[in-house]
Amino acid sequence: NKQVIFKDYVSGFPKESDMFLTTTSINLKVPEGSKAVLVKNLYLSCDPYMRGRMSNLPPEDPNFSSFQPGSPIQGFAVAKVVDSGHPDFKKGELVWGVMGWEEYSLVTAPDQRLFKIYHTDVPLSYYTGLLGMPGITAYFGLTDICSPKEGERVYVSAASGAVGQLVGQFAKLMGCYVVGSAGSQEKVELLKDKFGFDEAFNYKEEHDWNAALKRYFPEGIDIYYENVGGKMLDAVLLNMRPHGRIAACGMISQYNLQQPEGVHNLTSIIYKRVKIEGFVSFDYFSQYSKFLDFVVPSIREGKITYVEDIAQGIENAPAALVGLFSGRNVGKQVVAIAHE
Ligand code: NDP
Repeated sequence: NKQVIFKDYVSGFPKESDMFLTTTSINLKVPEGSKAVLVKNLYLSCDPYMRGRMSNLPPEDPNFSSFQPGSPIQGFAVAKVVDSGHPDFKKGELVWGVMGWEEYSLVTAPDQRLFKIYHTDVPLSYYTGLLGMPGITAYFGLTDICSPKEGERVYVSAASGAVGQLVGQFAKLMGCYVVGSAGSQEKVELLKDKFGFDEAFNYKEEHDWNAALKRYFPEGIDIYYENVGGKMLDAVLLNMRPHGRIAACGMISQYNLQQPEGVHNLTSIIYKRVKIEGFVSFDYFSQYSKFLDFVVPSIREGKITYVEDIAQGIENAPAALVGLFSGRNVGKQVVAIAHE
């Protein structure tokens, strides 16, 4: 059983060498009498929150406890059941949920940790992104936290990534004007040409973000879907419209800093009557089927598209994860490690 092992706690930017590959033996049967499920992992998901689990700071939410040095990295994955002691899971079924970064994982308490996959007319890897945790995050962060109305003006940062590309497409389906920012010309073109954003800009080339936002939102921003934090949040606060809403989804620009940057324009929250609300995808997992009812027909009708960046082989998983923090990924970062 090849595994990606977490070497030791990280400070600053994570490196490939913070993880290493090892091979252990594994019994391909669940222990006699247990209700566990043994799965073969097919796709591993690389997600920015995993950086937080690489530090040894006490987690602010128990779902984000530190990885154990010497144990496999944990993350979302798509897998196939190869043996089961649980009556609700049968050999051959496809599932997604949190697994170890390894070829085979033994999942105890599968009824609390695994979602079964019923729609297989879409790429299975989508269950790490569009049809998995990032999709839930994009949909409920936009609809539940920001309540978009037709004609409202929406700004999305890290807009070409796993979550951002969906936020923009969902907001367009809801009749909004949508602008995204991303870190390369290639990504900016994707936003406009593939995902249907009205406008997009490369934040690495625009040095005055306040001026850029004023150009794209002369009347101000109704909804900001926050993925990056720091100075971008500061620039956005100067451009919010009265009663604007900000979904605090992520702040990737801060995850590797020893000292988080200060945010200065907080008084705008008062005078513009802005609502800022944080949320975690897990808050909405119980509404997964409601999300599928919306999104699966939209995919089948061609109204929603999805771009993935698929690395091949478990040995390339550490580089793929680290690459999120320099924007190496174009679209949702996945690692394909086995065929069904
Ligand atoms: P992405 O697929 O967007 O990958 C990360 C991207 O972030 C990179 O490609 C890069 O794109 C951008 N980035 C990296 N460093 C910086 C930086 N210093 N400043 C600005 N942008 C940077 O990731 P996800 O879509 O999976 O996640 C997006 C955000 O949503 C993250 O903050 C994540 O933590 C958060 N999140 C929150 C969840 C929740 O439950 N609240 C659940 C899932 C995600 P670029 O080239 O454009 O810079």
